[in-house]
Amino acid sequence: MYDINRVRKDFPILSKVIYDKYPLVYLDNAATTQKPRCVVDAMTDEYFNVNANVHRGVHFLSQQATDLHESSRETVRRFINAGKTSEIIFTRGTTESINLVATCFADAFMKAGDEVIVSEMEHHSNIVSWQIAAQRTGIVLRVIPISDDGVLDMEGYKSLFNERTRIVSCTHVSNVLGTINPVREIIRIAHEHGVPTLIDGAQSTPHFAVDVRDMDCDFYAFSGHKIYGPTGVGVLYGKERWLEKMPPYMGGGDMIKTVSFNGTTFNDLPYKFEAGTPDYIATTGLAKALDYVSSIGIDNIYRYEQELTQYAISQMLEIDEMVIFGPRTNHDAVISFQVGNIHHLDMGTLLDRLGIAVRTGHHCAEPLMRRLGIEGTCRASFALYNTTDDVDALVNGIQRIRKMF
Ligand code: PLP
Repeated sequence: MYDINRVRKDFPILSKVIYDKYPLVYLDNAATTQKPRCVVDAMTDEYFNVNANVHRGVHFLSQQATDLHESSRETVRRFINAGKTSEIIFTRGTTESINLVATCFADAFMKAGDEVIVSEMEHHSNIVSWQIAAQRTGIVLRVIPISDDGVLDMEGYKSLFNERTRIVSCTHVSNVLGTINPVREIIRIAHEHGVPTLIDGAQSTPHFAVDVRDMDCDFYAFSGHKIYGPTGVGVLYGKERWLEKMPPYMGGGDMIKTVSFNGTTFNDLPYKFEAGTPDYIATTGLAKALDYVSSIGIDNIYRYEQELTQYAISQMLEIDEMVIFGPRTNHDAVISFQVGNIHHLDMGTLLDRLGIAVRTGHHCAEPLMRRLGIEGTCRASFALYNTTDDVDALVNGIQRIRKMF
């Protein structure tokens, strides 16, 4: 599919030795991914050779920096197949993108008693942002239930719609269960009721092709750092017809046309939602990361990671008392597990002693933990550079730890 050894050489950190003893086995990619050299080089190069504030200067460097920043927007547009760059808003990440919609959509289109539908498997960012909007405006959250194996209850979903439903805000892929949700169906049903949708793409964009026009979502959010890009930058895609009617999120430079003490007029899209100096170095890094992913081929990445995930699940299920949460089909490159009554924190800490980085805890999904009747899990999550050797190290590590208990 692709040359994994060559790919691994693009990520300098992968050759790190942990505790002076163990080669790094990095399986915490759902939290953040490692960066290829080309991303860091592009950002360093911009700092050393181009750096100037964007959109503000007539001078050479400012124009060059602006061109780079705007060409990054075009790269993002192409990557998710949006229709226009005016529909691509740069944010600090998925969290900010969702908060922007929860705030501005609620202000523009919702009043006390109106409802937003979220699901039981949401990340806190897609729950708390709506709860904050609810405190301010009196809107109400309705929750799509899930089955015991972590699949959305679509009949339950359909039954939530009523004349007060204003928006559906749902994750594309669960960061805990790996469930790939049927977003096309979710969006189609919402649209049948005349209701727009926000899809949380934090865990989808790094793993498979996303086409916002084909999907027909109204908003789509994702983070740069989860797709081999830098921290501190993310994207909100929004259909122009919604964004046009929404008030700005923050006030400041760049988002205005004119300002006086008698009133202010706001800039065109997307700048209306981009107050202040953007992280234009990070947008360059993000564009480079998306180009890197495209050069390998997102479909190749999907096939590779699917094979790896299936291999991991089959090997892990050989371990006595192993429980893997989430469905067996439509399962993305995230495996949450629990072994007997070994506490997830003990498991994670001891795996770390073997150089294996996994995540432990509630994974910012406490309502989901409550639904599953657990406190937390251990989570191994894969990226395009992980190998079957990584999986074998994890499985051997878990076996070793089991024997200790
Ligand atoms: N949504 C999901 C499904 C996530 O997995 C995460 C991060 O783990 C987020 C939202 C928040 O992303 P960020 O912290 O990059 O804003």
